Amino acid sequence: ADPHQGGPVRSTCPYCGVGCGVLLRPDGAGGLGVEGDPDHPANRGRLCSKGLALAETIGLDDRLLAPRVDGHDTDWDTALPHVADRFRETIAEHGPDSVAFYVSGQMLTEDYYVANKLMKGFIGSANIDTNSRLCMASTVAGHKRAFGTDTVPGTYDDLDQADLIVLTGSNLAWCHPVLHQRILAARKRRGTKIVVIDPRRTATCDAADLHLALAPGSDVALFNGLLAAIHDQGAVDRDYARHVDGLDAALAAAGSDRPEHLTGLPAAELQRFYDLWIRTDKVVTVFSQGVNQSSSGTDKVNAILNGHLATGRIGRPGMGPFSVTGQPNAMGGREVGGLANQLACHLDIENPDHRRAVREFWGAPAIAATPGLKAVDMFRAVGRGEIKALWIIHSNPAVTMPDADAVRAAIAGCDFVAVSDVTANTDTARLAHVLLPAAAWGEKDGTVTNSDRTISRQRAALPPPGQARPDWQIIAGVARRMGWRDAFDYTAPVEIFREYAGLSRISGLMGRDFDISGLATLRDIDYAAMAPVRWPVTAQRQGGRFFADGRFFTETGRANMLPVRHRAPAANPDRRHPYRLNTGRLRDQWHTMTRSAKSPRLSAHRPEPFCEIHPEDATALGIAPAGLVELSSPHGRAILRALITTDVGKGELFAPMHWTGETAPSARIDALVAPATDPVSGQPESKAAVVAARPY
Ligand code: SF4
Repeated sequence: ADPHQGGPVRSTCPYCGVGCGVLLRPDGAGGLGVEGDPDHPANRGRLCSKGLALAETIGLDDRLLAPRVDGHDTDWDTALPHVADRFRETIAEHGPDSVAFYVSGQMLTEDYYVANKLMKGFIGSANIDTNSRLCMASTVAGHKRAFGTDTVPGTYDDLDQADLIVLTGSNLAWCHPVLHQRILAARKRRGTKIVVIDPRRTATCDAADLHLALAPGSDVALFNGLLAAIHDQGAVDRDYARHVDGLDAALAAAGSDRPEHLTGLPAAELQRFYDLWIRTDKVVTVFSQGVNQSSSGTDKVNAILNGHLATGRIGRPGMGPFSVTGQPNAMGGREVGGLANQLACHLDIENPDHRRAVREFWGAPAIAATPGLKAVDMFRAVGRGEIKALWIIHSNPAVTMPDADAVRAAIAGCDFVAVSDVTANTDTARLAHVLLPAAAWGEKDGTVTNSDRTISRQRAALPPPGQARPDWQIIAGVARRMGWRDAFDYTAPVEIFREYAGLSRISGLMGRDFDISGLATLRDIDYAAMAPVRWPVTAQRQGGRFFADGRFFTETGRANMLPVRHRAPAANPDRRHPYRLNTGRLRDQWHTMTRSAKSPRLSAHRPEPFCEIHPEDATALGIAPAGLVELSSPHGRAILRALITTDVGKGELFAPMHWTGETAPSARIDALVAPATDPVSGQPESKAAVVAARPY
């Protein structure tokens, strides 16, 4: 299906939300050559270590090659009716809210769309949530509160054009390396200043002009201090403020926080940052999981947006707030309605007009009338026996959810669990009654959306092995066997994409931001040849920035500045659990390592799980360099290699989240994390657990 006949297959990297283009060259023996695509606008040929090692991760070693029912390999004609029957029977006996799907930002947009359509329109429940809940749900909620829609205002080009880039809660050098390289290139060219806001000293700080090592969880206080300084220095853009509601209330709230006290940063350092921000017109604030994964994550996002709205620094070249997403298709999931509190195409589940329009478009027998269970609540409901049939697609929640031991036990106790994955060797797959073999990256066709709203094709360069199938086929196969034959009678991903683009026309007509109706009549050949394109895509408009014109997607048409106040993390260190545990990613691993650990050179970067600990804490605890440290919390325990370093503050620890029961049973770090969530977004607080530590 590649337009460049005889040449390489153009696709995208399956790892992070940068969405780099890759050129794939099958070697004829089941392998692939992989290099950066010089024509892709996200990366212009660059790849990071993970992208460069993709060829090493192709292989059939641990692939799931056949459907498996109750431990026995079988075929699709047995597995699909079995899954359909179990869901149908459960719904008939206990109602639509007794079933749930837990899906993933690893899925392609077409797969995601079909799963969401089945659950919200045909089963009639909104119990579909995604692991993106753990990634950027707070950004979605913050965007919607401020803009009326989940809109990323700017583009990657703004990183090339900014004079100041503030990276907050983002270890961009490791988690989005190609974007980081892009920023460093811009700095070389135009002298861009870089400020990093992070309690921990990371690789991203190496290139920073200023590193603000604030107290964990104090971001709202820091950005409230900025808003107060903007006001004090007369830097509010009164002209742009005509397009903004809530300025006075936000200023009053901002003036009530005391940033020096709450952030623990010297007043002179804060002032230096505030002065730099205020006197620089072209400011981009990049934010990521350090902001989102918090019990006050939505407020943190709004505190960041407030500064940009107050100064009108939004939607124009080189300026604006910029959320970078973790997963390759986190944005696509947001767009198709993969979160339990959304409909498709940025339409709202609480809005009766939106619900009616989607139901009519789908010809659906039902439409979910209320938001479904968000991830943490969903697995609690599984644990209580209220969710009786669960389908997990491309995710490993038995490792990655907070309170992971409890989640593992909940899944193990569920009446019926189906898992779609490329391997049976995950903590979650081992708990499944039915395993459904999915096509992997390099074998499937569809689209993904990256952090700057660019929709790119993923293309197959290899045939799926054994009985493995694309996810849309598996989900539609179950839907047809549940009785909805016509609505799920797809024969190719392009048919799904056209339907989805057609639905987005309704979104546009209802005054929403997400409209790609210009792609609704793509011919098969156009979809095959589709080049990266940034949404919106309509007859009138393609791509570009939002909000420079001061028109927002709220009922008033104006943006909202939210009055937000500092709130401490949900749990604070005490005598029994005196340490604050931060969790995060490594440069060369991805999620629970099912792909990245196959590359020897990626695994060599950090070969074993570890815990960063400050030298004074290590001495006080009697922990020797490279000794073992045992961490415990009210929820679980882990044993890790001690890495003694001043990169973390005194009383603070850092541990990576990648290792699993399969790879290092004692290092399942999310087993320690409490299931505390943000009250608006439902996103868990993954970076501020409290733990005890002792030598092991
Ligand atoms: Fe892949 Fe992200 Fe690296 Fe690009 S930056 S090559 S998308 S992991």
